[in-house]
Amino acid sequence: LCLSSQSASEVYKEMLLLYAKEARNYINSQCAGMEPWQIIAATLLTSLGAVWVKGFFFQQESLTSRIKKQFFRLIRKIPFVGTSIQNQLNKALDDMSVSLCTLKEGMSYTKHLPAQGLTQEQVLDSIRQYQTLNEVQWSKGKVSGAVYWGDEKLTELLVKVYGEFAWSNPLHPEIFPGVRKMEAEVVRMTCSLFNGGLDSCGTVTSGGTESILMACKAYRDLAYERGIRHPEIIAPVSVHAAFDKAAHYFGMKLIHIPLDKKTMKVNVQAMKRAISKNTAMLVCSAPQFPHGIIDPIVEIGKLAEKYNIPFHVDACLGGFLIVFMEKAGFKLEPFDFRLKGVTSISADTHKYGYAPKGSSVILYRNKNYRHYQYFVAPDWQGGIYASPSMAGSRPGGIIAACWATMIHMGESGYVEATRKVVQTARSIAAGIRKVEGVFVFGNPEVSVVAIGSHIFDIFRLSNALTSKGWNLNTLQFPSSIHICVTMLHTMPGVAEQFIRDVKDEVAVIMKNPKEKTTGMGAVYGMAQTIPDRSMVTEVSCGFLDCLYSTDIFKVQKNHTSQRNHMNGNSKIH
Ligand SMILES: *Cc1c(COP(=O)(O)O)cnc(C)c1O
Repeated sequence: LCLSSQSASEVYKEMLLLYAKEARNYINSQCAGMEPWQIIAATLLTSLGAVWVKGFFFQQESLTSRIKKQFFRLIRKIPFVGTSIQNQLNKALDDMSVSLCTLKEGMSYTKHLPAQGLTQEQVLDSIRQYQTLNEVQWSKGKVSGAVYWGDEKLTELLVKVYGEFAWSNPLHPEIFPGVRKMEAEVVRMTCSLFNGGLDSCGTVTSGGTESILMACKAYRDLAYERGIRHPEIIAPVSVHAAFDKAAHYFGMKLIHIPLDKKTMKVNVQAMKRAISKNTAMLVCSAPQFPHGIIDPIVEIGKLAEKYNIPFHVDACLGGFLIVFMEKAGFKLEPFDFRLKGVTSISADTHKYGYAPKGSSVILYRNKNYRHYQYFVAPDWQGGIYASPSMAGSRPGGIIAACWATMIHMGESGYVEATRKVVQTARSIAAGIRKVEGVFVFGNPEVSVVAIGSHIFDIFRLSNALTSKGWNLNTLQFPSSIHICVTMLHTMPGVAEQFIRDVKDEVAVIMKNPKEKTTGMGAVYGMAQTIPDRSMVTEVSCGFLDCLYSTDIFKVQKNHTSQRNHMNGNSKIH
C-alpha cells in the first residue's frame, strides 16, 4: 500500500503488457482456424460496415426526421390509403388553381409573342386591363405590410429617376460610374445609421432574402476556413425563413432555439447551450417578423464576443424604423455596431426605407467579413469575373430609385414616418389589449402587433376580419394573426377602424367561442396538424405551380365564394 510513484508506474506497465498479451492470445485463438483470405475479408467488411454505420447515423438531417419521412413515404405506398390521400391532395390543388388563377369574363392568356409588336398606346391599354385584376385595396390601409408607403408623389419621382438609369448596370462600373457612386452612398449612409465605424462596409442586394443569404454564405466560408466541416447557424425559431433557405442552399444546418413563451424573445440560455465547435454564426432579429419582438441582442452579442462567433442581426423588417426611434422619442436597447459582438446587419430599404421593391442592404463590421461574401472566378474565359453578391448583372435603375428615396426622405422624413408608424402600432396594441378574449404577444416595440386567443380559434377572427376587407398575416406554431403597420395605417381613422372591427368581431365570436372554424381559417389550422410535412410541401409546390399557370379555369358557382375570399373581399361562411 506504500508503493513509491516509480514502482507504481512499473506495476502499471507490467499490467498493460499482461493485458496486451492476453488480447493477442485471444485474437490469435479466435483466428486459429481461419485462412489468411478470411481474415483479410473480415477486416475489410468490418471497416466498411463501420463507415456505413457512421454515415447512417451522422447526417445533416437527424435520424428521427429521416425515419419519420420514410414512414410517411411508406404510408403513401399503401393501396387505397395512398390513392385516397393523393385524391384529396389533388382536390386541394384544383381548388387552389381555381381560387388563385381565375380570370375575369372575356380575358385570356397571351401564350405567344404577338407577330407584330403592339403600339405604345396598345401596350398601355393592355396594362390597364391587368390592373383591373386587383381586388385588395392596399392603398386604403387594409393590408398588413406588403406596401410600406407607396406615396403618389414619391412614385412620380421614382419613375423619373428609374427612367434616367433604366439601362445602367453596376456590373460595369466604368460604363455607369454614377450608379456605382449611388450604391456606395446607399451603403455608407446605412452604415452611419447603424453606427458602423470607419471599417464598416456592405453591399446593396435585391432584397432581405439575398442580404441574409449573403451573410450566411460569408460565415459559412469563414467557418470552412476555421476548419469547421459542417457549419451550423444558431437562430431563434422566430427567425425569417430566409435562414432556412440559406441553410438549404449552402449546405449548412439551422438550429432553431425556442423563445421565452411570455416575452417571445429567444431564450439566451438555450442559445448558449446550442453553441458547439460547429457553430458558424448566431442570429437575432430586430424585430422578428411573426410577433414584431426584438431579441435580446445585447446578451447574445456578449455570447458572440466571448466565443468569437460571427453574429448577424436581421433588421430586414424594422431596420429603417429602429435607427430613427430614439430621435422619434422611443427608447430602445442598443441593437447595432455599438455592440462589439455584432458583425453584420441586414436592413431592407424596400420595406420601411420606402424604396421600391428590389433593394436591401447587408452591412459588415469590417471588410474582412465582406470578402467572404464576394465571388471571384479568376480563370473564366470571359475574363476575370468578380461579383459582390448572388446576381451578375443588376438593375441600376432600382439602386438609383433606392438612393433617390433615401435622399428625398432625409433624416427628418424618416424620423417623422417612424414616429407615426410606431405610435400607430402602439395604439393598436393598446386597443387590442382592452378587447376581452384576445391577447397581444409579448411587448411589441416597433411596428408589428400579433394577436392570439386562449379562448377561441384565432383563425375565426382572421376569417371575420377578412370579410370586413382586412388582409392580415396568418402565423402558425402557435396559431396567431398579425398586422404589420405601415404608413398607410397611419392615415386618419384606419387604426381606429381596425380596433373597432376586432372588438366587434371578437364580441360576436365570444358568444359562441367553441364553434368550428370554417373556410380558409380552418385550412390554416389544419395545415399545422398534418404530421406528414411533405404533404404541406406538396400542396405548397402546387401553389407555386398555380402562379405560372396559363390555363383558363372555368368558374363554377360553388367556387366563386372561395375566389372572393382569397382576394380578401367577401364572406366565407
Ligand atoms: C421581410 C423580411 C425578410 C426578408 O425580406 P425579403 O425582402 O422578403 O426577401 C427577412 N427578415 C425579416 C424579419 C423580414 O420581415
